[in-house]
Amino acid sequence: MGTSKPHPHNQTADFNYDEALAAFSAPQSSVDGVAVGKVIGDNAPHEVGQQEQWQYDKEHFKLVSPLNRAKFRILIVGTGLAGGAAAAALGELGYDVKVFTYHDSPRRAHSIAAQGGVNSSRSKKLDNDSTYNHTKDTVKGGDYRCRENDCWRLAMESGKVIDHMNAIGAPFSREYGGTLATRSFGGVQVSRTFYTRGQTGQQLQLATTSALYRQIGAGNVEIFTHSDVQDIIVEDGVCKGIVTRNIITGELSTHTGHATVLATGGYGNVYHMSTLAKNSNASAIMRAYEQGAYMASPSFVQFHPTGLPVNSDWQSKTILMSESLRNDGRIWTPKKKDDQRDPMTIPEDERDYFLERRYPAFGNLVPRDIASRANAQQINAGYGVGPKKNSVYLDLTHAIKNLGEDVIRERYSNLIQMYEEAIGDDAYKTPMRIAPTCHYTMGGLWTDFHEMTSIPGLFCSGESSWMYHGANRLGANSLLSSSVEGWFTLPFTVPNYLAPLLGQEAPDAESQAAKDALKRTEDRIEKILNIRGPNPHGAEYYHRQLGEILYRCCGVARTVEDMQQGIDEIRKVRADFWENVFVPGGKDEMNQQLENAIRVADYLDLGELMCVDALDRDESCGAHYREDHLDEDGEAERNDDEWCFVSAWEPGDKPETFIRHSEPLYFDRIPLMTRNYK
Ligand SMILES: Cc1cc2nc3c(=O)[nH]c(=O)nc-3n(C[C@H](O)[C@H](O)[C@H](O)COP(=O)(O)OP(=O)(O)OC[C@H]3O[C@@H](n4cnc5c(N)ncnc54)[C@H](O)[C@@H]3O)c2cc1C
Repeated sequence: MGTSKPHPHNQTADFNYDEALAAFSAPQSSVDGVAVGKVIGDNAPHEVGQQEQWQYDKEHFKLVSPLNRAKFRILIVGTGLAGGAAAAALGELGYDVKVFTYHDSPRRAHSIAAQGGVNSSRSKKLDNDSTYNHTKDTVKGGDYRCRENDCWRLAMESGKVIDHMNAIGAPFSREYGGTLATRSFGGVQVSRTFYTRGQTGQQLQLATTSALYRQIGAGNVEIFTHSDVQDIIVEDGVCKGIVTRNIITGELSTHTGHATVLATGGYGNVYHMSTLAKNSNASAIMRAYEQGAYMASPSFVQFHPTGLPVNSDWQSKTILMSESLRNDGRIWTPKKKDDQRDPMTIPEDERDYFLERRYPAFGNLVPRDIASRANAQQINAGYGVGPKKNSVYLDLTHAIKNLGEDVIRERYSNLIQMYEEAIGDDAYKTPMRIAPTCHYTMGGLWTDFHEMTSIPGLFCSGESSWMYHGANRLGANSLLSSSVEGWFTLPFTVPNYLAPLLGQEAPDAESQAAKDALKRTEDRIEKILNIRGPNPHGAEYYHRQLGEILYRCCGVARTVEDMQQGIDEIRKVRADFWENVFVPGGKDEMNQQLENAIRVADYLDLGELMCVDALDRDESCGAHYREDHLDEDGEAERNDDEWCFVSAWEPGDKPETFIRHSEPLYFDRIPLMTRNYK
């Protein structure tokens, strides 16, 4: 562990949050077109310490009487763990809830794909885990670019998530004696990850969807499937609802409510190749951003160390091998460059177990950003293996020798089978090949401590918001954060927002603001459909180019030249897109080309903003690894004196201009320290 030192961002006994905000000044930007905006606060109750703030909040939140709840209409976009849980919980409480998903069924949300597990520090194992340790691991894992008070909430509510999911039907794996089983994930030295074999997301999603169906059946929640959110309705600076497009018929509709929650998942598909479901997207949050909701830390992206490597230029996505494999798998490359030998014939002393060598304390279980970087460095230095030399080995053969194949089969059989189907190798007999791949987006819409965006009435939750994970998310903390938000945060914070609105009618679906939002949607669709440039290409053509630029310029390791070049290249691709993209078919029908073109238009704007954010943030932190900011050991070097804040972006008044607001971060019981996993 590093040592803490007195620092203006470490709270002392006489710390005063408002005074600290008033005294804070953010650095100027080195990026053309970026203006420094205002200093913003987190809206948490700072009269108590960060550890106590969530409990204090809950004790002071305004309540809505059961008799009045049905008078409030709440729109929830997304039925993943975050949105599905919020809809079920608020519906059960008696609010008039409408929930939207572009899928045909709520259970198809991307959360269903998660494999490895969900964290909670309530484990029965006597390994000295605690709420404090969970909070500390999360803050430190995020490299101090997250809020400490958020992380306390995450850890405190984590026990409830496990009990609740257990009660509503998630079949957690168990020890022989009946207690819930746990395992370890990267970045921690305890065993706090609960799991249902390799299908944790699936089982949590099914349990959440069952709870949601129960409320739909009871008439408390109305569901709108095949409904793709196209815009946000904002009146007098307050969110009043959404515009949706039915993806089967093309019909556009406006929906209004007293509060709206976006829980639309991560935007990793901006990289084209990612481990996310192909439909995961950034459209709803980009529409909100255009309407004034700040976008926080968009360049903070997690590259998973254990993705399957790209084997062909025409591959449409990458596949994740769960990080849980790192519990038993050892990561290595040959010591010799360009070694073509069958890995099983390479003797032990000619193998480099580079994570164990570089990080002896954590070994193969270092956090994801560190493992991804080490894997990429090994590959870039010429030690990569496989046909494209773009991967490293993850080897289960030692564990099989020590524990027996049955034990490994019991733990990972579905992952090993998936690997064999994708790559054709039998991981019981030969090491797997893995490579860093885009996996999780820590950035997203900026939200305050109550998960409300900078547009009052618009909340954001789950992976589409920025909260908890700072510059690097710890494995198994995301199913947790989505569940904590959906089940145990929004059901308190949304009513607290609604209570003073009692007596106000539901906003008018025929209002001018609703009509304006509908018109913006119609115009955008018409514009995309009517492009007839001289050099036509489908949207996919531009998406592939964008992904390649982002991996190169805003990827695992970032240089000033690359990031600047990335901005220039993305602007050229965007200009080409708006001149030449060709979308066949019409708007009043199912048109997946149109859907994709809308997504790609958003990705181009988001990709530009990500490169701007990465270039602007003149430090390394977590997964944001700039080669001009490294310490003497080649590790990411933060600049806490200048950059200990969250960047919250707003569009400028002209194209290619941006305003960077800043929320300074202060640390109370988890003082700033250098991450050290050695
Ligand atoms: C392969 C993989 C494995 C993972 N494994 C783990 C793990 O083991 N542990 C862990 O903690 N995390 C894991 N994660 C991360 C975790 O799965 C996600 O962060 C989490 O499930 C996100 O949940 P969510 O509710 O925010 O969003 P999602 O589950 O993505 O749900 C988004 C919802 O929004 C809807 N939606 C999106 N856009 C629109 C729109 N424009 N209009 C209407 N509806 C829209 C979708 O239909 C969907 O219902 C994994 C991620 C991947 C990619």
